[in-house]
Amino acid sequence: MDKVAALEHVKSKILNEMQCPLKDAAKNLVFGKGNPDASIMFIGEAPGAQEDEQGIPFVGAAGKELDKLLRSINLTLDDAYIANILKYRPPENRDPAIDEIYRHTPYLIEQIKIIKPEIICTLGNYSTKFVLAQFNIPDMKKIAGITQLHGKVNPVSIDGMEFKVIPLYHPAAMLYNPNLRPILAQDFLEMGKILGIEPATEKELEKKVEKENKAEKSSKPIKQSKSTKQSNVIQKGLGDF
Ligand code: URA
Repeated sequence: MDKVAALEHVKSKILNEMQCPLKDAAKNLVFGKGNPDASIMFIGEAPGAQEDEQGIPFVGAAGKELDKLLRSINLTLDDAYIANILKYRPPENRDPAIDEIYRHTPYLIEQIKIIKPEIICTLGNYSTKFVLAQFNIPDMKKIAGITQLHGKVNPVSIDGMEFKVIPLYHPAAMLYNPNLRPILAQDFLEMGKILGIEPATEKELEKKVEKENKAEKSSKPIKQSKSTKQSNVIQKGLGDF
């Protein structure tokens, strides 16, 4: 099975088999987007309102910031693959609950194994803790916060596959705290160095923006159906995270 077909198979399992109250409340599954052959995979936290509306991750304000950061190292979101810890939007964009992490991350692990990226960039605390805990949810509480971990490379493996993991501040955090902007910019430059990429010149940046604006005009959002199965699992918060 090629990567695209394998990803479609995982997506259909979420649509047809996964049970979670978030699924019943959301408008769309937000599965993943980007290049299945990418050497970088980003892992965010959970879809927001715009992602829920369109069924595509990182299409809102955080996605625009992420795209700008990628452009600064001569890449775009199309050069990467991007997915989230949670596949459906939590109400009011609240933090993921532990039972939701248990229900949703098996599918994320399948995505990672299909993409087989060289580098996994975790965005924010939840994805950082999940991946650096070697995908073992009970160990998430042993992992330090993003403030300590951002920008450093960590080896992580699953089923014999090895990845370099670079935790990054979530681009949405930068929208609330502008002091994080230069830190994220520097972490991206470091990531570019690891990938052997030169930072982009102003001219290159302009060209990329032009190209993306054209592509954006010609693309349309896709609606998906979702299961209406109800589940009665009690959600526990991750307050100590
Ligand atoms: N924030 C995330 O973590 N994921 C998205 O898809 C959008 C915003």
